[in-house]
Amino acid sequence: MSDAVHSANVDIPRVDAVIVGGGHNGLAAAAYLAREGLSVLVLERQEHLGGATVSALAFPGVDAKLSRYSYLVSLLPQQIIDDLGLDIELVRRRYASYTPLPGSDTGLLVDHGDAATSAASFAAVGGEPDAAAWSEFYERTARLAGAIWPTMTEPLPRRSEIREAVADEETVRDFLERPLGEVLERTFENDLVRGVALTDALISTYADAHDSDLQQNICFLYHVIGGATGDWDVPVGGMGRVSAEFARVAGEAGARTRTGAEVIDVRDGEVTWREDGREHRVRADHVLWAAAPAVLDRIRGLDPEPVEGAQVKVNMLLDRLPELRDGVDPEAAFGGTFHINESYSQLQHAYREAQNGRFPEPLPAEIYCHSLSDPSILGQALQASGAQTLTVFALHVPHRLIAGTDAERGELQQRVFDSLSSVLAESIEDVILRDADGNLCVETKTTLDLQDTLEMTAGSIFHGPLSWPFAEDDEPLDSPARRWGVESRHEGILLAGAGSRRGGGVSALGGYHAARAVLESRRNER
Ligand SMILES: Cc1cc2nc3c(=O)[nH]c(=O)nc-3n(C[C@H](O)[C@H](O)[C@H](O)COP(=O)(O)OP(=O)(O)OC[C@H]3O[C@@H](n4cnc5c(N)ncnc54)[C@H](O)[C@@H]3O)c2cc1C
Repeated sequence: MSDAVHSANVDIPRVDAVIVGGGHNGLAAAAYLAREGLSVLVLERQEHLGGATVSALAFPGVDAKLSRYSYLVSLLPQQIIDDLGLDIELVRRRYASYTPLPGSDTGLLVDHGDAATSAASFAAVGGEPDAAAWSEFYERTARLAGAIWPTMTEPLPRRSEIREAVADEETVRDFLERPLGEVLERTFENDLVRGVALTDALISTYADAHDSDLQQNICFLYHVIGGATGDWDVPVGGMGRVSAEFARVAGEAGARTRTGAEVIDVRDGEVTWREDGREHRVRADHVLWAAAPAVLDRIRGLDPEPVEGAQVKVNMLLDRLPELRDGVDPEAAFGGTFHINESYSQLQHAYREAQNGRFPEPLPAEIYCHSLSDPSILGQALQASGAQTLTVFALHVPHRLIAGTDAERGELQQRVFDSLSSVLAESIEDVILRDADGNLCVETKTTLDLQDTLEMTAGSIFHGPLSWPFAEDDEPLDSPARRWGVESRHEGILLAGAGSRRGGGVSALGGYHAARAVLESRRNER
């Protein structure tokens, strides 16, 4: 490939494929295409690759590499890891989750490794009958996972094919056809137990459990099918390690990447980008859009489809894990996903609060401690001192409520602290480390921050509303782009990122599916 960077008004160079966006999906597409001998150019607007799959030294003078945005991996198929030879280690967490019962000194501990402890814990929160119901409920989601997960690296199946593979009409109805709230309320008696199950439906998905558009069901489904088990694992070395591996294999296969390169137009197979204050252009047989689809709509003058994220992410570094009010071992409580103020009624209340234009009080949130499963993200001295990282993902803070002032960010951060401290025996602020400048080691990312830094439209972490991982029975699947679920609203441009049909999350599926569609269309042309 000749040097693709030319200013306008000179001969326009050409490559086989241009990929817009150097997140992990763009890099996955680049790797797959370059390995097949295509000349590939990846254009990334930021000064570094990785998008939302990055680690960062977030605090001055502190040797801790935090997964700044995404933090757990479930949806990345082993097939992609094997195909590309990615050197990625994922660690399974011993505990599934811990959820303090609001206003009490007890909580629900779901322990993968100890059924008796889990059963006792259900009883302690007043949910004894729900222990058996819990197992049955997740046997049903495992049935869905077993039917759907193997199709994720294949062209889109039809709804009827999934129905047949699940082979259980009741499960199909409860999870794929009726609002999730119905099956949760029918299956579980206990408010806390219902809430723990509902949280998977609300990650960056602003919904009521009974919404008829079933966005909450779709979100839930993606949270229980990964790897056919629904486990969410810790990437050793942090998320930066994951995208670095995609960048490595893409580079080794011959793909070229340019950072600080913002694409400002795509038209008739020509891609224009701005870099170092100048405009550059390249012609490509294939244009793959691995950034948010709404950005593509904007630069091509099309009204974007509605999209909205609804979360606040807070990263912090602690000098030690805090003690809990209920005396549960902090290593167990923080060893899985720690739900705070996420009972079913609290989640529904929070949604109503936000619908009425208010930040929820208390803020429902889930917490995750990376360093318990993988201390390697901390320098030696921090490891030896007992320091731990903490990531908080707070729900039901829709982008429509965000004004973007510093005071507002401070208010949201304080609400996260208050929510967290409500279940602790001490205030969270008392155990947060300070950086070299004497400031608390805390960073807070609103939906607006995600939009500004990553061009994630309205802070939607999936680049838009999620879609079912199958096609409807009457849907035309008459082109490679449609068969692989990567068709965009723009002729000749394929979606290759989270905004593609099955692309949300750290899965590399958007990039993989787009690459497969490109290769299929080239074969068809021959
Ligand atoms: C706070 C947060 C927490 C999350 N937690 C998890 C989690 O734990 N597990 C999980 O599976 N998923 C999680 N996600 C979702 C997941 O991170 C994303 O869905 C996924 O990383 C998207 O990858 P991508 O490569 O498609 O896009 P991105 O990572 O968004 O990358 C797109 C890239 O395109 C670039 N770009 C945008 N516009 C242009 C342009 N005009 N020209 C050139 N480049 C452009 C952007 O700068 C960006 O680097 C989380 C996301 C966030 C934000």
